[in-house]
Amino acid sequence: ADLKDHGFIGEGMYGKVNKMQFKPTGKMMAVKRVRIISNRNDDHDTNTSMKQVKNEINAIRSASKCDEIVQFYGVTFNEGDCWVCMELMDASLEQIYIAVHGPALQWNFFDELVLGSIAVSAIRGLDHLKTQQNIIHRDVKPSNILMNANGRVKLCDFGISGYLVDSVAHTRDVGCRPYMAPERLQAQASYDIRSDVWSLGITMVEICTGKFPYGEMFDMPLFKLIETVVDHDAPLLLDTNYNFKTTMFINSLLIKEVNERPDLKQLMECEYFVYHDELQSLQEHVANFVQKVLPEVEPIPQ
Ligand code: ADP
Ligand code: MG
Repeated sequence: ADLKDHGFIGEGMYGKVNKMQFKPTGKMMAVKRVRIISNRNDDHDTNTSMKQVKNEINAIRSASKCDEIVQFYGVTFNEGDCWVCMELMDASLEQIYIAVHGPALQWNFFDELVLGSIAVSAIRGLDHLKTQQNIIHRDVKPSNILMNANGRVKLCDFGISGYLVDSVAHTRDVGCRPYMAPERLQAQASYDIRSDVWSLGITMVEICTGKFPYGEMFDMPLFKLIETVVDHDAPLLLDTNYNFKTTMFINSLLIKEVNERPDLKQLMECEYFVYHDELQSLQEHVANFVQKVLPEVEPIPQ
């Protein structure tokens, strides 16, 4: 009752995202409504498990604020739906790259400084989750990296999907584009942070070229899709439009052998990261870029 709906933003596998206003304070936020599917018919069990989900999700609320992570406000339950309330951003990287490569702009090229900023923010965000909250993201892809007209790049949807009820969790990767690293698809050992590094590499190749690097796979059976990622060479960025340093950096994320792939610490020490991290005017550059790609959005006064 405290939320006023301001319209639909987007839809994913688990539910819909709307722009909503928290009436007591006037604050705008993004609210993701996820249907909780229970395997059990027992109401008592469902209520207990919802309570548990709520407690667990609320526990991952950021204790320390991080500029590279979408702020999490909390969850509430409403008629069997779980409402996840979070910071409202202006667009996902998916929307941005589709606009950049699309018919209106046709740039055929993604701004290289913005790429640098995306890399730095994603790596910082992943590092914050890991070191401060002991969370591994597990779902890095263009729609889970959000941008705003103030030039900020932030990660969202970490952890939360892992808390959803079993039946949802098991179907989550079927029919989806595989951003997952080869070692994940082969179900080797425990989850390594370097699997997220791979997913970031796939994401960066996709935004550079305007296409998912393995091609469209919607009708492909699951085993075929896994085989493609596991058996084929990594889908490296080969586009000569991009400068050598950008290409080298992105392709280093896509080293197939997990033990040879850099981890977050190594990435944060590399020249490409340090250069963009120290670039004074980068946030302003990204802000101008977002406003050019999405002229309808306005920066939030800071
Ligand atoms: P997916 O990430 O698979 O697209 P989601 O349900 O997570 O599915 O999100 C649906 C869409 O809603 C996203 O693609 C994104 O464009 C938009 N979205 C999600 N979270 C936010 C947010 N915090 N601010 C603005 N837009 C968002
Ligand atoms: Mg998402």
